[in-house]
Amino acid sequence: MPPTAAPAATLTSRSPVTGEVLAEYPTAGAAEVAQAVSAGRQAAAWWAQLSPKQRRDALLRWKRELVTGAEALAAVINAETGKPLGGAMLEIMLAVEHLDWAARNAHKTLRRRKVASGLLAANQLGLLEYVPLGVVGVIGPWNYPVYTPLGSISYALAAGNAVVFKPSEYTPGVGRWLAEAWARACPQPVLQTVVGDGATGAALASSDVDKVAFTGSAATARKVMAACAERLTPVVIEGGGKDALIVAADADIDAAATAAVFGGLGNAGQTCAGVERVYVEAPVYDRFLEAVKAKLPAVRPGDGPDAAYGPMTMPSQVDVVRRHVTDALERGAFAVAGGPESIRAPYIDPIVLAEVDEESVAMTEETFGPTLTVNKVRDLDEALQRANHSRYGLAGSIFTKDKQRGLALAQRLRTGAASINSVLGFAAIPALPFGGLGDSGFGRIHGADGLREFSRAKAVTWQRYRAPIDLMRFDPSPRAVRTALWLFRMRHGRGH
Ligand code: NAD
Repeated sequence: MPPTAAPAATLTSRSPVTGEVLAEYPTAGAAEVAQAVSAGRQAAAWWAQLSPKQRRDALLRWKRELVTGAEALAAVINAETGKPLGGAMLEIMLAVEHLDWAARNAHKTLRRRKVASGLLAANQLGLLEYVPLGVVGVIGPWNYPVYTPLGSISYALAAGNAVVFKPSEYTPGVGRWLAEAWARACPQPVLQTVVGDGATGAALASSDVDKVAFTGSAATARKVMAACAERLTPVVIEGGGKDALIVAADADIDAAATAAVFGGLGNAGQTCAGVERVYVEAPVYDRFLEAVKAKLPAVRPGDGPDAAYGPMTMPSQVDVVRRHVTDALERGAFAVAGGPESIRAPYIDPIVLAEVDEESVAMTEETFGPTLTVNKVRDLDEALQRANHSRYGLAGSIFTKDKQRGLALAQRLRTGAASINSVLGFAAIPALPFGGLGDSGFGRIHGADGLREFSRAKAVTWQRYRAPIDLMRFDPSPRAVRTALWLFRMRHGRGH
C-alpha cells in the first residue's frame, strides 16, 4: 500500500521550551526510503558474512562512540525533547548497557545447536539456528529517543541484520546523531537513518524491509500493521501503557510513594511504562497519600539544572492531559495536588488525583503527562482486578514486604513485566525481555527473546545413517511397519 500522503520537503525541529528552530532536515519520501532499504540490503549481506567476533567488535566500537559522545548526544536529546540533561544521560547509560549485552550475547544465543532427535528420528542429527532476517525497519517515538529505538536497533544489529531507522519527527537530530556515530564505527551503512514525519514512517512500513519494529501509540501501530499486511511483513509492536502500581498494607509506604512519584512524574509522565494508576489497600491509603503529597514540593518542572522534569515535548499532549484531569474532576475525583491550573504549557506541575472514577478517561486512556491517579481498594484481589481492567498491558509494580505475595501478584498481573518494590526494575536488566499485550503491543525486544525477535528460526537435519525402521518411503518393509506400530502403542497408548 503506498503511503497516504507525501512528506513535506523539509522537517523543522523546534525546542519544546521556546519554540525556536533547532534545525531543518530534508525529509525522506518513498523513493529515498526505498534507496536506503536497498543500500541496507547490500550492507546486510556484508554484515551477515562477518564472523560473530567482527560483528561484536563493530557494535562495541559503536558503543564507544555513544559513550565518548554521551554529553553531545545528551545535549541533542535535551534540545529536542526538553528533558533535563541528567535524564538524557540516564537514558544513554541504559541504552549502552543493552547494546553491550546484545553485542556480547548474540552469538551464544543464536548460534547453531543440537536438539534431541527423539526415538523416531534417532538416525537424524537435529540442528537449530537463528539466522538474520535481512533489513529491519525501526520506527521510533520521541519520549526516550535513544533508549527506546536502541531496544530494537541494538538487538536487530547484533542478530546480524541491517537497520533503517525512522526517528520521531520530534527527535530527528538524535536519529541523525546515532547513524553518524555508526558511520564512524563501521565502514558500511548497516545502520541508516531516514528523517521525516508519519509519511516517511508509512513509506518504511510499506517498503521491502523484512520486519518492522514499531514503537509508538496503538493508533499508529494499527496503521503500521495495515501497511505491513500488504507484503506480510512481520511486525513487533511496542505500544503505550496505563501501568498500575499496587500498594499492599504491609508495604514500605515511603518507598512506595517515592516510586509512585518518580514513576508517574519522571520525564513529565511521558514514559510508556510510567505509573499512571495507583491502587492502595484501605488501611494505608491515607498514609500513602500524605507521603506522596510530602514529596511533591521538591518536584518541579523547568529547563534549569534543578528541574525534576522538563516540558511536554509534544504540544498537543497538553490538551490530552487537560481533558483527562477535567473529566476526572467532573466525575467526582478530588485533587490531592494540582489541578487544571497546574497546566501552564509547555510545563505541567504535578497533578495527583484521588478517588477517580474507574471509567473516566484518566483511568482508561494513556495520559502521558505528570499526573497520578490514586484509588483505595478493599484488598489486593480488588487491586489486581482493577489493575488488569485495561486494554493496555505493558508493565506494573507491586509494593509488599511479603515476597511470595509479591511474586503471586506479579504472575497474575496481565502485563509483559512486573517490578516488585520498585518501578521500571526491568529496564536496566538487559537479559529480561520487554513488551506488552493488548494495546501495548506484542513481540519482545531486549534479552535473548529480543535477539530471536530479529531472527528466523532455522531447522536443519543431517541424516547420520539409514533409519532402522524406515517409514519415509513408499515401500516400507512389513516388519518395519509392525515394529513402528508396536513402539507407537507402547510409547503413547498407556495414558501417561
Ligand atoms: P506515535 O504513534 O505518534 O509515533 C510513533 C512513530 O510513528 C513516529 O516516528 C511517527 O512519525 C511514526 N508514524 C506516524 N504515523 C505513521 C504511519 N502512518 N506509518 C508509520 N509510521 C508512522 O507515537 P509518539 O507520540 O512518537 O510516541 C509516544 C507513544 O509511544 C506513547 O503511546 C508511548 O507509550 C509509546 N511508547 C512505547 C514504548 C514501548 O517500548 N512500549 C516506548 C516508548 C514510547
